[in-house]
Amino acid sequence: MAPIKLYNSLGRRLEAFEPLDPGHVRLYTCGPTVYDRVHIGNLRTFVFEDVLRRALRYFGYRVTQAMNLTDVEDKIIAAALQAGVGIGRFTAPHVASFFEDLSTLRIEPVEHYPRATSHIDEMIAMVEQLLEAGYAYRADDSVFFRIAADADYGKLSGIDLEQVRRGARVRSDEYGKEDARDFVLWKGAKEGEPEWASPWGPGRPGWHIECSAMSQKYLGRTFDIHCGGVDNLFPHHENEIAQSESANGSPLARYWLHAEHLTVDGEKMSKSLGNCYTLGDLQARGLSARSIRYLLISVHYRQQLDFRFARAAEAERALKRIDDMRFRLVHEPEQAVDATPVEAAVTEFEAEFGAALADDLNMSAALGAVFRFVHDVNGVIDGGLPVGARHRVEGALQRADQVLAVLDSGAWAEDAGPESGDAAGALSDADVGRLVEARSEARAARDFGAADRIRDELAAAGVVVEDTPAGSRWKRS
Ligand code: AMP
Ligand code: ZN
Repeated sequence: MAPIKLYNSLGRRLEAFEPLDPGHVRLYTCGPTVYDRVHIGNLRTFVFEDVLRRALRYFGYRVTQAMNLTDVEDKIIAAALQAGVGIGRFTAPHVASFFEDLSTLRIEPVEHYPRATSHIDEMIAMVEQLLEAGYAYRADDSVFFRIAADADYGKLSGIDLEQVRRGARVRSDEYGKEDARDFVLWKGAKEGEPEWASPWGPGRPGWHIECSAMSQKYLGRTFDIHCGGVDNLFPHHENEIAQSESANGSPLARYWLHAEHLTVDGEKMSKSLGNCYTLGDLQARGLSARSIRYLLISVHYRQQLDFRFARAAEAERALKRIDDMRFRLVHEPEQAVDATPVEAAVTEFEAEFGAALADDLNMSAALGAVFRFVHDVNGVIDGGLPVGARHRVEGALQRADQVLAVLDSGAWAEDAGPESGDAAGALSDADVGRLVEARSEARAARDFGAADRIRDELAAAGVVVEDTPAGSRWKRS
C-alpha cells in the first residue's frame, strides 16, 4: 500500500499516514447544521472530505466514515420557533436538500449519518462521565466543561488561554460558569424550546458534545482521521478533544485535517453581501454540476479557494479538453502501430497522479497530470492509435476518476459539435461511432452484406462513411 502523507493540524506538520487497523481507515467529518440549504463554502469542505475518502480507497484502504447532522442548535430553534413548527418539521427539507446537493456533486454516500436528536442518551452518558471525573460541573440548570481541569486544553489550536479569558463574553444564560472560558455541555431548558429529560433536569445538549458522543459510537474511542473546515478547529474541535480525551483517557483522533475557506470574489461569503451562493444558485446561472465539483477540488484544500464565475468558465473549458480527447479516442480507428508511446503515457500518468494524491492530496498537481496525459494521448492519436490503446487510456482515466469524479460518461458524444444530433430522428455521435465501428468489424470479418446494411442505415441518417487507409472516418452530409 502506497504511503500517503497528510498535514496533521495536531502538531502542524506533514506526516506519513498509517491507520490504527492496517488497511482500514475510520474517518469522522463534521456535518452541516441543517437550518438552511448548505452554501458552496460548506460544499467545498464536504467535497474535500469526499476526495480524501476516495483517495484512501484509491490506495486500497477500506473506509468507515461518519458525518453528523446537527439538527438541534440555537439557530435551528430560533428559526423553527419563528416558522411556528417543531424542529423536526423545520429541519426535514434542509436535510433533504443537503443529501440532494451531495449527490449532485457526486459525493459518495458515507457509512453513517448520525443525527444529534437521535443520540441524546449517548451524550448524556458522556456528560455524566465527565461530571464523575471532575471535568464538568453543574451551574444553574446547565452543565459546563471545566477547562482548568484539563491540563492539555489548547493542544490542537495552540490557543492562548489568557487571551480567551479576556476575550470571552459570558452569555446571559451562562452566568453560572466558574470561568469565562468554560463551555456548555448541557443547556437547561427554556420556555418554548425543545427539551429532553436528563439527570440534571430537562434541557438539550451543547454542540460540541454531539460530535464526541457520536464519533465514539460509530468509530470507537480512538479513530484515525477527523476533518472539518478551519472554522471548526477552535473552539469546536478543541472542545471535542477536551471532552472525549478527558472522558476516555485516550486520544480522540490521530490525524486532524482542516479545509481552508471558500471566498467569493475575494470576500468572505455573507448573506448581507449577497454572495452566499448555494449549489442551486450556481446551476441556475448555467454551471454544470461537474464543473462546480472540478472547481471545488482544483485548489489545494489548505489554500483558500476564491470562487469567481470566470473560473467556473475555465473549469468548463478544462473538462471540455478531456471530453474532446475521449471523443477522438472513440472515433479513431485502431491500427497496427507501435504501442510504446501510449504505454509510456499511461505509466507516467498513473505514477504522477498517485504521487500527487499521496502528497497531502495535491489536487492541482493531480489535475496537471491529467492534462499532460490528455496532451500526450492527443499526440498519440495524431500519429495513429495502436491496437488496445483506447482501452488502456480509458481505463487509466476511469481509475483517476474514481477520485476526481468529474468525467461525464456521455459528454464527449453529446457535446461534440454544433452539428451533432439536430436532424429529426438523427443518430447521436455516440450512436454513429458505434455503428461505424460495427461496420468496420463486419468488413474485417468479410461480412460485406452486414457492412452495407450499416452503411445504408448511416446514409439514411445523413452520415457519410469514408474508408481511408487509416480506417473509416465519417461526417454528416
Ligand atoms: P456548519 O453547517 O456551519 O457547521 O458548516 C459545515 C461545514 O462547512 C464545516 O466543516 C465548516 O467548517 C465548513 N464551512 C463553513 N463555512 C465555510 C466556508 N466559507 N468555506 C469552507 N468551508 C466552510
Ligand atoms: Zn463536529
